[in-house]
Parts: sequence; structure tokens; C-alpha cells
Amino acid sequence: MAKEVCPLCGAVAMSRRTQAMSYHYKNHSIVVQQPGAYCDACDESILDPSDLKATRKELAAFKATIDKLLTPDEIKAARKALRLNQGEAAKICGGGKNAFSRYESGEILIPRAASNLLTLLMADKSLLDLVSTGA
Ligand SMILES: [Zn+2]
Repeated sequence: MAKEVCPLCGAVAMSRRTQAMSYHYKNHSIVVQQPGAYCDACDESILDPSDLKATRKELAAFKATIDKLLTPDEIKAARKALRLNQGEAAKICGGGKNAFSRYESGEILIPRAASNLLTLLMADKSLLDLVSTGA
């Protein structure tokens, strides 16, 4: 692939590829395959929103595990096991109508109260009859 000018160092050494990149969170680290534009001269990288989107679910799962929250896949599995659509789950757990879409894609981490509530409901699905979905 043709190399482009690196906006940081000026070398014609920047190209798009996917490479291993390490991320750190609370003294833990993870290596993910991160697409982006990488400079061979200065080791700088430029990630656009679609590059970040490619790894956000994996990174959200990494952070959620450290913080003892449900991961995006666990949230989706719990919601489906409780036979709730995303809007119904948000009415029970709080958050706007797009909250579960954002939790399940890894766009944002689920709030602890919502994570704990889903965990309790999974432990005893009959508790779903007791929760309020609002007026
Ligand atoms: Zn550079």
C-alpha cells in the first residue's frame, strides 16, 4: 500500500494496517489487533472513529472484567435470557432507550447498579415479576 506523509514527523512513512497495540487500565493491560494509520518513522499512530469502533467491544469487556461488571456479551445474553428487548431492559435498569445498544456494543460501560440488577435477575428470573417498568 502507498505510504502517506505522517502529519506528526513529516516522513513519507505512514500506511494503514492492523497491528498489535497494548492498552492499559488500572494496572492491567491488554493487547488488541488495532486497525489504524501507522508511521514507520516515528511510531505514531492515528486512529479514526471507525478504527476505535473495531476494538471498543473487546476493550469494554476488558475494563468490565476488571471492574467486575457484566461484559457487553454477558449483558446481551442476560437480556435475551430474561426475554427483554433493549427498550424493556432500559425501562427496568434505567438509562435512555439507546442505553442497552450502547452497553452491548461496548460504546459505554454499564452502570454498576444496572449490572448488579441484571445479575440478580439472572440468579432468579422470577424476580422479574417484582420490578417496575415505570408508569
Ligand atoms: Zn511519523
